[in-house]
Amino acid sequence: MDLEKLPPLPWADNALEPVISKRTIDHHYGKHHQTYLAKLAGLLEGGHRETSLEEIVMESYGKNQAVFNNAAQVWNHSFYWNSMTPDQVSLTDERLKGLVASAFGSEDSFREKWVAAATGQFGSGWIWLVYSQADDSVDIIGTPNAECPLHLEGRTPLLTMDVWEHAYYLDWQQDRAGHAEAFVDRLINWDFAADNLKKA
Ligand code: MN
Repeated sequence: MDLEKLPPLPWADNALEPVISKRTIDHHYGKHHQTYLAKLAGLLEGGHRETSLEEIVMESYGKNQAVFNNAAQVWNHSFYWNSMTPDQVSLTDERLKGLVASAFGSEDSFREKWVAAATGQFGSGWIWLVYSQADDSVDIIGTPNAECPLHLEGRTPLLTMDVWEHAYYLDWQQDRAGHAEAFVDRLINWDFAADNLKKA
């Protein structure tokens, strides 16, 4: 993996306004995400250039907390940027639509459950839509701090939302629910979720 620079954002830094301001993106991508990468590079001391980020996340889990935290946060944030789009992409993929309908009943109940997961996640963490191979279903889960579904056997992440306060506090202050509702209504990139499902 490239330990020197992050992949570019998939949209302009002000494209998600007013849900997520350019100021938030400047700090979140330019400072937080960048710092996780710099810390990871320091911890790996130039090694692992031939290893993928996913492998570093998987191998460090439960063994090297500092490497795991920073590697997972680098991965989580890149996945998060791609989970969002300013283009109002609706859920059209038939297979994913069917899975969402079986799991939640409707897109409205998906929204409700997503927001409940966001507000129910105590402290910092991530909300995920995951696909489970074992029973061909999707579910919403929350993970604390840097944790991600990569090491949960049989679960493939399809979408994520950052619920660390740095993700929304400048724009929404304490209103995590309002931010989560706006994320579902305005930002979800369902095409990205459908692509991840195809690869699962
Ligand atoms: Mn973050």
